[in-house]
Amino acid sequence: QARNPHEPEFQQAVHEVLDSIVPVLERHPEFVSGGIVERLVEPERQIMFRVPWVDDQGTLQVDRGFRVQFSSVLGPYKGGLRFHPTVNLSIIKFLGFEQIFKNALTGQGIGGAKGGSDFDPHGRSDGEIMRFCQSFMNELYRHLGEHTDVPAGDIGVGAREIGYLFGQYRKITNRHESGMFTGKGVQWGGAEVRTEATGYGAVFFVQNMLAVHGQQLAGRRVGVSGSGNVAIYAIDKVHQLGGIPVTASDSSGYVVDDAGIDVGLLRQVKEIERGRIAEYAARRASARFVEGARPWEVPMDVALPSATQNELDELDASALIGNGVRAVAEGANMPSTPGAVAAFRESGVLFGPGKAANAGGVATSALEMSQNAARQRWTFADSEEKLRSIMSDVHDAAFAASERYDRPGDYVVGANAAGFTRVAHAMLAQGVI
Ligand code: NDP
Repeated sequence: QARNPHEPEFQQAVHEVLDSIVPVLERHPEFVSGGIVERLVEPERQIMFRVPWVDDQGTLQVDRGFRVQFSSVLGPYKGGLRFHPTVNLSIIKFLGFEQIFKNALTGQGIGGAKGGSDFDPHGRSDGEIMRFCQSFMNELYRHLGEHTDVPAGDIGVGAREIGYLFGQYRKITNRHESGMFTGKGVQWGGAEVRTEATGYGAVFFVQNMLAVHGQQLAGRRVGVSGSGNVAIYAIDKVHQLGGIPVTASDSSGYVVDDAGIDVGLLRQVKEIERGRIAEYAARRASARFVEGARPWEVPMDVALPSATQNELDELDASALIGNGVRAVAEGANMPSTPGAVAAFRESGVLFGPGKAANAGGVATSALEMSQNAARQRWTFADSEEKLRSIMSDVHDAAFAASERYDRPGDYVVGANAAGFTRVAHAMLAQGVI
């Protein structure tokens, strides 16, 4: 804390991991003598830079760019870019730190990183978005590469932004280096199912958690927060599996739709029109918009917080528990506050932490890298099957580790222990660097 005094989100993420790996360190004194924790909490490299661009009125704007390259011990740095006004070094470091263990848990050869900018894309024209992305890449390109660092999307960075960022990298380097970015359009090097992967994967993770207790998703009411990439495809998959997705939200409030959220209408409002969630309710008789509130007050069997960090606190957790929630899986990164996580664990709610439940996105990014390297394209069905199997493996690895460390069914301990152990062994093998 003394070393990173103004980084509360980073401290929160480090505490969460360190608290749950105490039993791992007790069983592996070589991790302690090898200084694994001391090394891991310090990024290998962090880059901050100026992003100047000119808006549609001809006014010069200056935003701040970040890339924190946390660990490359398992593979090239890998993690998304976030464009949101709340972005600062603490947020990027918390996301990058979490990414190390999430990526390790997928079993694939990818390191951990995160980046982004405090640029606010809301209300900006296409031309402004493009000029911003080009300026951002004018600096970032020198730190990227298919064997070095491979970004992807996150909040505020979707297909459009990835296109502009990739285009500028190609222009500057004179290389069509497909493997230097994931989440690309399927027509120019992107992988099938990458767009859907995080949301679909989170729902597969819930299926796995419920199956341990002989239960199914079909017929259950599922509450989702957010209405971006993760939320939309989580809602889509819940429908496909016979569940009833009853909520969606954005930063202005939430909609509840007891007939089940209509994915087509949601996509129209959010992806195509880039509108607000209230417009969904305005066009759907069975839906109601609740302004300025979060969806956790709605009765639901399964909750999928899929918007942003710390969006579900202790009070929200008590409301959910009071309404009989059975399972919570984090589609977003660290959406539940420490108090909320403690409440879920104490009351026996099945709880899938983000680094396990939302690992499907980055796992499918690694599949995109494989396809780019081999110059292959797999079908949607093949790719979805691989995602399903990876999520099953992620679940089983976290569950097995929870048993190994005498906390059966505690996926927080299990996911952290399994991810950390893989990284720690690799660090010991590669020496003090
Ligand atoms: P999007 O930008 O597509 O969507 C974000 C959604 O969350 C929007 O509905 C947005 O509403 C809402 N939101 C953002 N900030 C806030 C806030 N402060 N309060 C309330 N709502 C908010 O992002 P993604 O769907 O890609 O990402 C969502 C979460 O999932 C993030 O935590 C991200 O790190 C995590 N994640 C994403 C992955 C991916 O593959 N995309 C992979 C793994 C994790 P509004 O428009 O009003 O801001």
